[in-house]
Amino acid sequence: MKKSLKYLSAVVLIALVCLGIWAFMVYCEGEDPAILLNRDVIMIGQKTTFDITAIDKKSGIRNVYVDISQDGKKHTVNALNLPEKGINRETLNVNIVPEDLGLHDGTATFGISVTDYSLRKNTTTSEFEVVVDTVPPRISPLSFSNYINPGGSCVVTYRLSEEVSRSGVEVNSTFFPSYTENTAGGTRNISYFAIPVDASNKNLAIRILAEDNAGNSSLYPVSFHIRDKQFRRDKMNISQRFLEIKMPEFQQMYKYLREISLLEAFSRINTEIREQNLKTIETICENTHPEQLWEGSFLRMKNAATMATFGDRRTYYYEGKEISKSVHMGVDLASTKNAPVEASNAGIVVFTGYLGIYGNTIIIDHGMGTFSLYAHLSSIDVQKEQTVGKGEMIGHTGNTGMAGGDHLHFSMLAGGKFVNPLEWWDPHWMNDNITEKLAVSQ
Ligand SMILES: [Zn+2]
Repeated sequence: MKKSLKYLSAVVLIALVCLGIWAFMVYCEGEDPAILLNRDVIMIGQKTTFDITAIDKKSGIRNVYVDISQDGKKHTVNALNLPEKGINRETLNVNIVPEDLGLHDGTATFGISVTDYSLRKNTTTSEFEVVVDTVPPRISPLSFSNYINPGGSCVVTYRLSEEVSRSGVEVNSTFFPSYTENTAGGTRNISYFAIPVDASNKNLAIRILAEDNAGNSSLYPVSFHIRDKQFRRDKMNISQRFLEIKMPEFQQMYKYLREISLLEAFSRINTEIREQNLKTIETICENTHPEQLWEGSFLRMKNAATMATFGDRRTYYYEGKEISKSVHMGVDLASTKNAPVEASNAGIVVFTGYLGIYGNTIIIDHGMGTFSLYAHLSSIDVQKEQTVGKGEMIGHTGNTGMAGGDHLHFSMLAGGKFVNPLEWWDPHWMNDNITEKLAVSQ
């Protein structure tokens, strides 16, 4: 009996010692908590938000204090006291409105402190300087008269009072970036943008946007006169013969089209693949040369007849039944078979290859978001990244992609979006709407 009691007390003693060591290790650990910010915080604007994550892997977080000091005055921005140990990770949202705290523009110091639940109360502090800037950029437009056409292009020029992180033009919800240029009067911003085909006075809002490094933003509404434009309606009859001739080309490229009927394949090409191709083009056109590479009006293919125009609303029929719809975002030009195709203006080739409904395609970047696209080619005689001059031979017409006969499908893009090429081909339009505007805003 006595022996077993002795044995039991030994076990209890060992257990207590182990518990003591474990508690000592937990509470007296010397590992400092970590502080993480979800982004660099250098500037504090009119309203600045960021996240602070406190991490303590061993004892857990006891408290977090966030403050900002200016002129010797400390303002608590956020604080957290956890009632119990063991919480290893906690994220705090910091939201600073300098006006509410009585901070003025200039420097200030940020302080973050995190303490853990160990007996030692391991604490990590982080202090860094920030610049309070609550003045939004001032936008001063340099060009004013904007006569626009639905589906057309427009350019605006303006100056900004300070360096910005983002600026351009917003057409409804689509953003078109601006490019800077140094002129005698200082740095000016130039933004080319596309007007939607269905735009009217009632549904169109155009504004210049600028956002500085502190996140302060300004908007300036752009005034415009929009003309009325009616687009053509085109009835496209799809014959069995067309499907038999055309669909195998697509079935070669897109294997899943082999398992469905020719008519179903046509519908999928005209909707899904058309959409995919558009996304590819828009992605390609997100990167552009920051300077204007073109000079004067763009060239229209020589001795070619116009077969279809920009904005044509096409309805497709098969045996009298409506099967599909699309909007034609270019101009179809037909000449002789395998006719030479010239670069419509100077630029850099940014795409060559097969592009679904467009077939063999070339895209040329003319700078500042302006591009030309040549589709249905039988041959491509240039390479990606090649610099081309205005009128330089780049390929030959054909009927690759969704083309019934040999022709060139020519598209123009402004700000990376399809626009009516007619304007860019017209020296008068170019002069009045681009050259003159750029000249008066030097
Ligand atoms: Zn076309």
